[in-house]
Amino acid sequence: MDTHLLHIYTGNGKGKTTAAMGLALRALGHGKKVVIAQLMKDGTTGELRSLRQLPGAIIFEGFLMKGFVRTRNEEERQRLVDRHHAAMRELMAVIDSEQPALTVLDELNVALAMGLVGRAEANTLIDTALKYGDCAATGRHAGEGLMGRAHYVTRMEAVKHPFDEGQAAREGIEF
Ligand code: ATP
Ligand code: MG
Repeated sequence: MDTHLLHIYTGNGKGKTTAAMGLALRALGHGKKVVIAQLMKDGTTGELRSLRQLPGAIIFEGFLMKGFVRTRNEEERQRLVDRHHAAMRELMAVIDSEQPALTVLDELNVALAMGLVGRAEANTLIDTALKYGDCAATGRHAGEGLMGRAHYVTRMEAVKHPFDEGQAAREGIEF
């Protein structure tokens, strides 16, 4: 039986999303199938643009959103939660049909911390991914539960970041 392991990239330093996408690139290079779901973003990031062009990469678009969660009113927020709930089910169906060697859940930790997805459904999603391959979840504020069940936990530490000096996010580097 294959060993399927859970990877968590968390912490406040740069490199969580890029590490997970690097893992995807590595698996794709060996001809493996990878399902990539990016949460909390609008689908225009450089990494998704690149990965969409690679054979074997299945980009799940069901979580994509525009704007910030904080600025929404209660009704809009509930709609967003409902959409995430539906997307979780759709993504599990995609994973069951594609059976990927790797599933990347980018910013899942943030969506959990913001209450857009539930802990139980996140665990069920990870269980589904681990049936077929490894699973990597990223984002600040990873919960104790997820870190407890993970096999790799890497915390990026922000020793320095140009954002603190007023530098805005740069295309091709930050997104
Ligand atoms: P990357 O996508 O570059 O790998 P990340 O996934 O670790 O970064 P996130 O916490 O997802 O970083 O932050 C989202 C955005 O903020 C990215 O554009 C990222 O480059 C940038 N960022 C990362 N760390 C910091 C930091 N300490 N201060 C300000 N911005 C940061
Ligand atoms: Mg990130």
